[in-house]
Amino acid sequence: MDETTRRQLLRSGLAAGAFLFLQGCTSPVRRPGVRVSGQEPDASDWEFVSKKPDWLEGDRAADLPRYAPIPGVISRNAWTRAAPRTWEADPMAGVNRITIHHDGMTPFTTSSQSAAAQRLERIRRAHVSSNGWADIGYHFVIDPGGRVWEARPLALQGAHVKYNNEHNLGVMVMGNYDRQVPTNAASITLDQFVSAMMQRYRVPVSRIFTHQELRPTACPGKSLQRVMESTRSRGGVLARA
Ligand SMILES: [Zn+2]
Repeated sequence: MDETTRRQLLRSGLAAGAFLFLQGCTSPVRRPGVRVSGQEPDASDWEFVSKKPDWLEGDRAADLPRYAPIPGVISRNAWTRAAPRTWEADPMAGVNRITIHHDGMTPFTTSSQSAAAQRLERIRRAHVSSNGWADIGYHFVIDPGGRVWEARPLALQGAHVKYNNEHNLGVMVMGNYDRQVPTNAASITLDQFVSAMMQRYRVPVSRIFTHQELRPTACPGKSLQRVMESTRSRGGVLARA
């Protein structure tokens, strides 16, 4: 297949990776489907950078949008040596909604950076090996110490809300919020980071979701759901972002 044809196929959503349809946080089911293409946003809706990101391998550089690094976010290469399987993922050309998750594993409260890095790698391996995904499902992860980690590169569509991944930036807060409450540090960072993403990509508060608001799931757990309802309500931090 020549390059032009390949790009045309990519644009029409028929590239090989587009057949991989993705489940929510905890479901390992992999199912084929037909990609429903949303309206492409304007080029001004995302940022291009000229430098090739360090995780990008192979010949897909021309097909993928490039996003400028976000200040204060720990880069992907701080926690994994594995590159995303870019051929298994669709490009994500622009952000127009944000969805919040927990990992739903055992409660996690340590502020240790190395413990967070290990947990991230464990989740990535499960998403790739067990679920068959291109990479860890979420784009950004917040740990109990209040750090933000780069997970799946934003140039790739996430795998975090079944049927709702297009233009959807996925943020996961490490821990299980049916069994714990978010740490103060994580809550403050969640507000600051989501506010910053809303401004950066011009996403209104009406387009900030939790996983259970889009699909039937317990994610992000009762206590984090309450936090999100509060911060989006009148007078909340996200309502003012
Ligand atoms: Zn979720």
